[in-house]
Amino acid sequence: MDKSIVTYSRSATIDLSRICSALCAYCDYPVNNLDQNQFELTIPYSTIKLCAQAKKAGVKEVIFQAGERPDNFAAVRARLDLWGFSSYIEYVYTVCELVFLEGLLPSINIGYISKDEMQIIRRMSSALYMMIDCADERILQEYSPRKTLQSRVDTIAYAGAGKVPVTTGLLVGLGESERSRREALEIIKALHAEYGNIQNVILRPYEPSNNGRFTVKDKLKKTELLRVVELARRILPHDVPITVPGVAEENILSFINAGVRDIGAYDIVEEKRRGLDYSKDLKQLEKDLKKKGLGLQRRLPIFSKYIVENWYSRKLAQVLDRYKALLKNSADVDLEDIDDSFAEEIAAAAARRRPAARRARAKRSAAKIFKKKR
Ligand code: SF4
Repeated sequence: MDKSIVTYSRSATIDLSRICSALCAYCDYPVNNLDQNQFELTIPYSTIKLCAQAKKAGVKEVIFQAGERPDNFAAVRARLDLWGFSSYIEYVYTVCELVFLEGLLPSINIGYISKDEMQIIRRMSSALYMMIDCADERILQEYSPRKTLQSRVDTIAYAGAGKVPVTTGLLVGLGESERSRREALEIIKALHAEYGNIQNVILRPYEPSNNGRFTVKDKLKKTELLRVVELARRILPHDVPITVPGVAEENILSFINAGVRDIGAYDIVEEKRRGLDYSKDLKQLEKDLKKKGLGLQRRLPIFSKYIVENWYSRKLAQVLDRYKALLKNSADVDLEDIDDSFAEEIAAAAARRRPAARRARAKRSAAKIFKKKR
């Protein structure tokens, strides 16, 4: 890890499904409105429109997110069946492939994935998001009883065995004990010692939920989060960068002073929804960092270290091999330098590997799905 560089990603997040089997009380994400067929599953072909916007905005990463195992619900399985998918994971693979064909790198944040499913997913997802969230027994039992800590640890381990880099982390401010924070960080440390696949650890400040099922006594203070950053820096190995999301913290510089070297994903969908201009914020941050002798650099969903060490599938190699060659020739490859050609490179490589007729067939069947849904 180059300590003089702070990294971030430009991303576009797509909700695959907001149906969730776990329904943790502290989370506002799920919308289990199955009666109205709402948020059941995103139509694969509909992702393409967002890809065009994303590429225009210089995005490289598409993050597919979903609640925990929506396929536990019969309505979701019926939809998958109607669309011709034999499993939920086949569907996730397909949407990843679609955005890859559009010139972007997919990463996924969909909860538990089994060992066998990981073998499929690893071919098309450049990285995996799997938060530990919290290791506090009291909170887990009371507010998140359906999502076990073990299932999250297992998913990270399966990813490690399959050489998939993982972004993990903690949700800070749920009222968790200091001891449980240490335990969660120790778990992450142990996983990294065993598999070497923890590419960064997010310390995400908890935004109090509006659902009325969970309340926190006090909103997390900045000083508290700074203390957790220091704790994490003491426990985690030095090759694992700590991420505090720049979009969640107004004064990100104080966290960078405390050792944070990644500021997460700046999402164009969120940017548009909130009417913000992230590029302006990032330009200002770059100037501030320069004064401290630090640089700001855009990264891919898979961190450079894992690109150099070949932690990607043969399919993703169509693009990442070229980037690896650049990284090997220079310790300081800036994504901005190869920005213009990057998306075209991905699309061209993908098209080379996938004959035009097959590609057209995939688009035709996706269009059929779209028609059926309407
Ligand atoms: S499993 Fe994830 S998405 Fe589902 S409720 Fe819990 S935190 Fe939210």
